[in-house]
Amino acid sequence: MLEKLAGPAERVERSPAISDEVKNTTCYMCACRCGIKVHLKDGGIRFIEGNRKHPVNKGVLCAKGSAGIMQHFSPARLTKPLKRVGPRGSGEFQEISWDEAMQTATQWLSAIRNEDPKKLAFFTGRDQSQSLTGFWAQQFGTPNFAAHGGFCSVNMAAGGIYTVGGSFWEFGEPDWDHAKYFMMFGVAEDHDSNPIKIGLGKLKGRGAKVVAVNPVRTGYAAIADQWLGIRPGTDGLFVLALVHELLKADAIDLEYLARYTNATWLVRQAPGEADHGLFIRDEDGAPLAWDRSAHATVKAQSPGTQPSLVGEVTLPDGRKAKAAFELMAERYLDESYSPDAVAERCGIPADTIREVAAELAHVAFQETVTLDIPWTDWTGRRHDKMVGRPISIHAMRGISAHTNGFHTCRTLHLLQMILGAVDVPGSFRYKPPFPRPAPPGPKPAGKPEHLGPNQPMPGPPLGFTAGPEDLLLDENGGPIRIDHAYSWKAPVSAHGLMHMVIHNAWAGDPYKIDTLFMYMANMGWNSSMNVGGTLKMLTDLDEETGEYKIPRIIYSDAFWSETIAYADLILPDTTYLERWDCVSLLDRPISDAEGPADAIRQPVVKPDREVRPFQEVVIELGYRLGLPAFTNDDGTAKFPGGYPDYLTNHTRGAPDIGPLAGWRGLQGDEHGRGAPNPKQLDRYIENGCFWKHHLKPGQLYFKNVNKDYLEWSAGMGFIPEAKPIILQIYSETLQKFRLAAEGHGPIQPPEEERERIATYFDPLPIWYAPFEEAAIQTDEFPLHAITQRPAAMYHSWGSQNAWLRQIHGSNPLFVPRPLGEKHGLEDGDWVRLTSHHGSIVAPVKLMEGVNADTIWTWNAIGKRKGAWNLKDGSPETTKGFLLNHLISELLPDKKTSNSDPVTGQAAWYDLRVRMEKVSAEHAEPLFSALEPPRSVVNRPDILRYGKAIA
Ligand code: SF4
Repeated sequence: MLEKLAGPAERVERSPAISDEVKNTTCYMCACRCGIKVHLKDGGIRFIEGNRKHPVNKGVLCAKGSAGIMQHFSPARLTKPLKRVGPRGSGEFQEISWDEAMQTATQWLSAIRNEDPKKLAFFTGRDQSQSLTGFWAQQFGTPNFAAHGGFCSVNMAAGGIYTVGGSFWEFGEPDWDHAKYFMMFGVAEDHDSNPIKIGLGKLKGRGAKVVAVNPVRTGYAAIADQWLGIRPGTDGLFVLALVHELLKADAIDLEYLARYTNATWLVRQAPGEADHGLFIRDEDGAPLAWDRSAHATVKAQSPGTQPSLVGEVTLPDGRKAKAAFELMAERYLDESYSPDAVAERCGIPADTIREVAAELAHVAFQETVTLDIPWTDWTGRRHDKMVGRPISIHAMRGISAHTNGFHTCRTLHLLQMILGAVDVPGSFRYKPPFPRPAPPGPKPAGKPEHLGPNQPMPGPPLGFTAGPEDLLLDENGGPIRIDHAYSWKAPVSAHGLMHMVIHNAWAGDPYKIDTLFMYMANMGWNSSMNVGGTLKMLTDLDEETGEYKIPRIIYSDAFWSETIAYADLILPDTTYLERWDCVSLLDRPISDAEGPADAIRQPVVKPDREVRPFQEVVIELGYRLGLPAFTNDDGTAKFPGGYPDYLTNHTRGAPDIGPLAGWRGLQGDEHGRGAPNPKQLDRYIENGCFWKHHLKPGQLYFKNVNKDYLEWSAGMGFIPEAKPIILQIYSETLQKFRLAAEGHGPIQPPEEERERIATYFDPLPIWYAPFEEAAIQTDEFPLHAITQRPAAMYHSWGSQNAWLRQIHGSNPLFVPRPLGEKHGLEDGDWVRLTSHHGSIVAPVKLMEGVNADTIWTWNAIGKRKGAWNLKDGSPETTKGFLLNHLISELLPDKKTSNSDPVTGQAAWYDLRVRMEKVSAEHAEPLFSALEPPRSVVNRPDILRYGKAIA
């Protein structure tokens, strides 16, 4: 009977061969750097899957990663080198050969290097090869180098590195396996995307509580157990109220503070004196504490002492001092930090703040995690268990991109420290090569004595200042760098100020440059504050010379973006599937808390256009310019094999440290250090294009004070010596800058900067109103306007991708429903937003789950007509819009940079606006359409996988 019903036997091929070859490489559709397997059929890319063995994503692949294939087939790809022949912005280009392109670039750059190398400003975007590009700038001899960090999250990086010697994302992560309470602040999902997804799955599976502190309930906040819809720019105040509550309740880990932080270090109390606020040190420079039994000073970190945390002491020589903890407690116990005092400003009820503080205290102290792993601290003390406070925190650009962002980031680390929740089981964990000393080396190079014709700088252009003596100042105390990084305007500018480069180059402040050299940085559109102004600066003529005020622009990118039209020489890059790349421990590796890791990209297909990987171009330019690190003594190229040759054979700092840590040594059996191995790249490919070292159990936590870990780290060259890394509740570095502003020391700020430095270089974290808010009438601009990042998009790359565009083809302005109703708005209506700087028109969508005074949108989706080779009338150009047009690189005084005063981080999220209903049919402002060059104009009406693009 059954046989009869079944009918004739059918042969179903349930596992068809979809590819004839699979190549491993590393995704580059966002910053997360997941391992991927690219399936190829007949030499063409068929599909992409996650690499299950890869330490970052363990096989997980997101929408962006899968859609990488359409990036590769994008009709916006540049296909030939171009030379501008019409006015900037006209899109009139002439196709040229690579030989001519390289000759032109060499001629321009060598003239600069022969005369004054700092007249080259070299700025890259979301560049994952900064260990090469920064090194190239150093060799060229220009201090004017940075990537996009000053635009994105330098506050997060510097706030962490100067406080706990590490930071979130690339240098640290939550202990997903043991955390019981997880707080995520602001936009955080766009970095470390897949690991956070995997981690949240673990937390949810275990029943850990997830708390999202974000003005908008979107992204990962949507699955949080509790959402706190905070007012933008007030996170620091909220956290300090938590600190207030915990101090009041005595819910703090005193033993952790005394052992692993500088809480016991004595701070000189002598207002007006040159050493006020500095640590009391012995003749060896070791900081001292007050031993409450011996009634004498002792080395602060000595074992077996009883250091005091509170009160003021008088030293034998009569000097007065207080422990850093006392200063901290005095400040944050003040009622101005109480939940009742901050609730309205933060938009979070006081009772909620008290509840969160009580939960933190309960989980930290009643639900400790104990791992049966013995370990040894740096003094040699043996601990038979690892005991941790299972509170994890994660944050990224959301809380960073404010003028108060640096201190806000420090407040998060302060909260972690008082709970004893740094690199213990259940807490934030460092990723090697971090932790490093706070602050670490190197110092930024670029002092006057470091600069000269045909002269490399003695160190990298980006580094960490530890006091006024490390600033890059000219003979008059003014900035040396074109972006003013490491000057009194941004003394702790660890990542530079990309958002100020075009403005300052245009203004000739502090000098005129000759050439702006950009790599994958859409600085004329979505990587710009004040887009219209920026385009004007790129096209303004110098009245004296009749030339452009920024005389030359070289730009390398893979795609026809909005900025390409303003460049003079275009060096077309490959896509990420067509080149070698290196995710290096010398830069920002893919390590996790269990061990260091690095990765490569290998070309999975050959380019079918006249394009060259930018890294190859940089290395060849280095040789053509005669830069010492790229040229042999006999004048031949040091890396004739291009980037793979460089990755294998370049060493730096020590003869046995190179871009890749795995399989070093002639036999390929050394890791971390070792002579170059000619087969190294083969070994990476055999291993799935990554290398990973697993720490021993006893090295896994307490890394900042763990003897075994510190000795191993020093052996790897991650830290200069195996000394403990003591966490900095109180920052003496900041106090040194403040003392200079108060008139002490040989290097002092100019008069007009003194008050600013004295105010914002507070050694303890502070909160203050964002600068834009303080400068405007808040009733004239009552709303906060911010952006979030959709999980399916990353920068402007995603919003030109044929598959991803179907998810987010345009971006509505999300308005809280009650606010929208007050304005008589319905979905699909249009509004005009006006800031102190400009206005835009945008389509509206009402929503729940957003702070009552905040409107927001997805970033980087709005496109200029004609750019990215999108079809006329594409929603990205008619309904898509950017908040960038409303944001200025300057504060309302039109002279001060719209940046954090400590680091120079761009203050995107300080934007204030007013909103009115208008009738409109398209988004504004509308710029004239860009005309793509002939070499990229084949634009199909419908773009499908497999459809040929000529
Ligand atoms: S998270 Fe980023 S790196 Fe990972 S697959 Fe998605 S786009 Fe690629």
